[in-house]
Formats: sequence, C-alpha cells, structure tokens
Amino acid sequence: MPVGAAFLDRDGTIIEEVGYLDRVERVELYPWTIDAIRALNRAGLRVVLVSNQSGVARGFFTEEVVDEVHAHLAALLAEGGARIDAYYYCPHHPDGKVAAFARACDCRKPGRGLVDRAVREFDVDPARSFVVGDRWLDVALARAVGARGVLVRTGYGTTEERRPPADLTADAVVNNLVEASSWILQHL
Ligand SMILES: [Mg+2]
Ligand SMILES: [Zn+2]
Repeated sequence: MPVGAAFLDRDGTIIEEVGYLDRVERVELYPWTIDAIRALNRAGLRVVLVSNQSGVARGFFTEEVVDEVHAHLAALLAEGGARIDAYYYCPHHPDGKVAAFARACDCRKPGRGLVDRAVREFDVDPARSFVVGDRWLDVALARAVGARGVLVRTGYGTTEERRPPADLTADAVVNNLVEASSWILQHL
C-alpha cells in the first residue's frame, strides 16, 4: 500500500541557513522543527530529507561531514520524539572540483532523483506527498513529481517570495515549517 511522504528541504527549512554547512557545530534547529516533524510522523507520513549539497562536489566539505550533520540532526530530533525516516542528498554539481562528484545528475533538485529513490525504498506515492522548502526549486520538484509544494519564508524564502518564477506557483506560502506541517495535515 503506497504511502504519502513529506519531503523536507534541509537548509533554511529544518535548520538555519548558514551558507555551506561545513561543520556539525553550525547546525541549529529552528525552535519549531521538532514539533513540526513529530506532527508529520504522527500523521503517518514518511518524512524524507531532500537536500542539494553541492559543497561536496565543490570540495568545501566531504560526504563524511554531511553524514555527521545528519547523525547529529537525528539525535536532536530523537530527544524530542521526532524522526526523519531517510536522509537523502545530492553531492553533485556540473562545475564541481572533485572529479567523483563533478557531473550533471538527476538527483540535484529540482531533478526528481531523490523522490524516485523514496518511491523505490518506501513505496511512496508522490501524488499523496508534499515538498516543503525555502526555494522555488523545491516547489519545482513538487511540480515535477505531481506532489504539492509549500514554500516557507525562513532561509531564502522571503527573498524567493518576492521573485516568483513566471511559470510556477506554490500550493501554499507559509511562515515556517510548523505552519507547513499544519497545512499538510489539513490537506491529506
Ligand atoms: Mg533550502
Ligand atoms: Zn546529484
């Protein structure tokens, strides 16, 4: 039985946007993040982090650092009884300096590769799913897979809201992740 998922962007959505996050010490949850994710868990949605981390391809930090950040995030969430079911990220960039990751790919958002992985690993139904993020590319990912897209005003969100792309609208624009979570629960 396919299930719905909440695909959550990381930087500027779950945690503070700090530019290239290259040290675990710089991870800072928003005050509402744990409550927001716990509500999505309780609603029976798979919660999947989907993040572009081109800093790996650019040589700013390694995949080990990304894994360390996600382990730390998981521990912080667990303290509050919240859980992210899968941590997916794209380490690539076409202009990268690290040969192993310097290429075009289908997993860099708004490409759909990370969502397709959740479809394979969790039997997720994109049509019953949501994408939440602070960039239009997150909303574009929602469009690409037939999910609903929610733009949050944290991170780059307020700047993005002022510059809407001509061919793209969000299903909702809300202040932050906990408002996005409420919107999702009302639209299951
Ligand atoms: Mg972001
Ligand atoms: Zn990729």
